[in-house]
Amino acid sequence: MRLHTLEWVVVAVVAWAAAVEWVAARAPAEAGGWVWAVVVAAVSALAMVVVADAAAADEDARRRSRLIRITVASGKGGTGKTTVAANLAYVLAQNGGDVHFVDCDVEEPNGHIFLKPDIERVRTVGVPTPEVDRELCTGCGECGEMCQYGAIAVVKKMVLTFPTLCNGCGGCALVCPEDAITEIPREIGVIEEGMAGKVRFSHGVLNVGEARAVPIIRELTRKPLGKTVIFDAPPGTSCPVVESVRSSDYTVLVTEPTPFGLNDLELAVGMMRELTKPFAVVINRADTGDDRVKDYCAKQGIHVPLEIPDSREIAEAYSRGELIAEAVQGYGEGLMKLHDFIGQELQK
Ligand code: SF4
Ligand code: SF4
Repeated sequence: MRLHTLEWVVVAVVAWAAAVEWVAARAPAEAGGWVWAVVVAAVSALAMVVVADAAAADEDARRRSRLIRITVASGKGGTGKTTVAANLAYVLAQNGGDVHFVDCDVEEPNGHIFLKPDIERVRTVGVPTPEVDRELCTGCGECGEMCQYGAIAVVKKMVLTFPTLCNGCGGCALVCPEDAITEIPREIGVIEEGMAGKVRFSHGVLNVGEARAVPIIRELTRKPLGKTVIFDAPPGTSCPVVESVRSSDYTVLVTEPTPFGLNDLELAVGMMRELTKPFAVVINRADTGDDRVKDYCAKQGIHVPLEIPDSREIAEAYSRGELIAEAVQGYGEGLMKLHDFIGQELQK
């Protein structure tokens, strides 16, 4: 059984009180029992501090060694989500963390603009799509009835397939009574991986014209590396966002203090509550706009562990594609506090 810091302190206080009482009762009267008691009290108090300190360090080490997956999401684009995600990955790695940044915004990945990774590996992602053997097919229509995505249809006993709508669930092949359907892998995009300084880097790139982002995101989030994983989710509240959030332990919703920001935050909060996943809000450009986002968070009991001020320095560094934490003093410290806050929340 392992004790936590508070439990160690309680144990130490009880031991200290017992030791003082024992020595005071037994010390030779001529030596002055109280002198012995004071000496023992001082030594045991010192020991108590050392024990509590060691326990705290042990707990801290355990917390740091645990895999933590954080998704950075936002109800809409343009809130600074990727800036927060990329800089968070960077500052954690600069502070000794083993960090993996995973850009799940596969339709428009842009984390690489800030982290500037060296891509070392490229692998394709395919979706199994149905191919129908016309010799075996009887045109019964069961496959069309099964498909919820309109990716296969039977018209006048003729099977039509729409590969870009298929999400590879395999349902049509399962229900086909004639075993006329074979699943053939179809490439929908790639995953590129490498290193961005000390940060492990992965992002997915969906082929132009493809409608299904989820299979690439599922592949990206399946086996993250490192002790801390930062998922940069696509904007919005659609299936690709849900897939990114589903795989993580904690989500940060980045918003801005405007009516649009509030509207999209409300949608994102609704999604998080539906998924019953823990989350907090970061307000970007916090000193612009109005207080409605803050009021909403206060009323809803939502934590706001970080407010990022509007700043010309930040805007200039962003426009040059630089990491803000490198260019603007204090930005990285704020993100480290955000990470510590998340660690504490996950301990609860
Ligand atoms: S379920 Fe099989 S046999 Fe029936 S229409 Fe589809 S492919 Fe043809
Ligand atoms: S694999 Fe699933 S999504 Fe694709 S056509 Fe078959 S039933 Fe539809």
